[in-house]
Amino acid sequence: MGKLSVDRLPVEGRTVLVRVDFNVPLEGERVRDDTRIRAALPTIEHLRGRKARVVLVSHLGRPKGKPNPALSLKPVAGRLAELLGAPVAFSTDVIGPGARAVIEATAPGDVVLLENVRFHPEEEKNDPAFAKALADLADLFVSDAFGTVHRAHASTAGVAAHFPQAAAGFLIAAELEFLGKALAATEKPYVAILGGAKVGDKIAVIRSMLDRADRLLIGGAMAYTFLKAQGHQVGKSLLDEPHLGLAGELMAEAKAKGTALLLPSDHLVAAEVSPHAAAEPSGVDIAADRIGLDIGPASVAAYTKALADARLVVWNGPMGMFELPAFREGTFAIARALADSGAVSVVGGGDSVAAVNQAGVAGRISHISTGGGASLEFLEGKTLPGIAVLTDA
Ligand code: AMP
Repeated sequence: MGKLSVDRLPVEGRTVLVRVDFNVPLEGERVRDDTRIRAALPTIEHLRGRKARVVLVSHLGRPKGKPNPALSLKPVAGRLAELLGAPVAFSTDVIGPGARAVIEATAPGDVVLLENVRFHPEEEKNDPAFAKALADLADLFVSDAFGTVHRAHASTAGVAAHFPQAAAGFLIAAELEFLGKALAATEKPYVAILGGAKVGDKIAVIRSMLDRADRLLIGGAMAYTFLKAQGHQVGKSLLDEPHLGLAGELMAEAKAKGTALLLPSDHLVAAEVSPHAAAEPSGVDIAADRIGLDIGPASVAAYTKALADARLVVWNGPMGMFELPAFREGTFAIARALADSGAVSVVGGGDSVAAVNQAGVAGRISHISTGGGASLEFLEGKTLPGIAVLTDA
């Protein structure tokens, strides 16, 4: 993968600072979804097994540089201790003598979790003195917070410069392996599926896909901007008006590059967006008083066919407003087609990840990315600051 992996780092008996992504949803003092904590366990267990002292640093929510008891990581320490079956010391200080004292009171193989690093305004400013103070807590650095590597903050980027070696944890290693395959685009046919609401957010990734993928399947509200640019009627469907012209340019680019760009040929529509709205079928042109909320059965069939012989598939963004049961079938059908294709499959973005889980096919997806924004920026071919600072293998 090009970056030093944690299993090559000489950690025995050392103190290792690990940037993790424990930005989990809380319900009072309870962790509502511990997926992100579980995702960090392989790296933490590896370090404990080698008798390293493990010092974990993470952010939680957006405290805007001020302490906020509702965004304390304390409940996360409790859940982590349950998952590890071992105590987790919690330091209310992120840096300085208080944090050092908590770490020094531990034994080799023990785990310390520092308080929310974003309680300090210096974190998001990537302040060098704050990064140095964090680095002073440990001998070595491991980054395993893929969801934040596209941000140059003190705990994701600045801190690494103060260590002789900075390694990738297992989670980041897996992300780099699979997303790296998608970026290299050597396995073909390579199919990219893009959906969701806004064309504007995904311009760079669409451009990048036009260069790499053989087929680009477009769904979700984004599709209406493309259809409108082609001169179709889209009724009251969500449009990204400022990007209509751009959608036209992207279609022309696809043609020039020989990339097949598929748009829905039918839809499920409703008179209003509501949990009670009945789904009505519609052809490619949508009536003036109707809203397109899902791709229709003919589009599902065409997209399923386009996936059948794929060797590599990347998916980001739902095919419709799948939060409403009447409009989830398009998204779920694509999730199943992806799983059935047998291709190397990479799914990113919170909504698409939720969809593969709800459709019951998550176990048949090669890689579920933990970072929506980071995975998109990676696929755009951008250098991610939190990856660039890691030691080369
Ligand atoms: P994004 O954050 O751009 O990936 O967009 C995800 C959101 O797009 C989800 O909440 C979907 O409900 C929404 N979405 C997908 N298709 C449609 C549609 N046809 N109309 C309105 N919203 C949609």
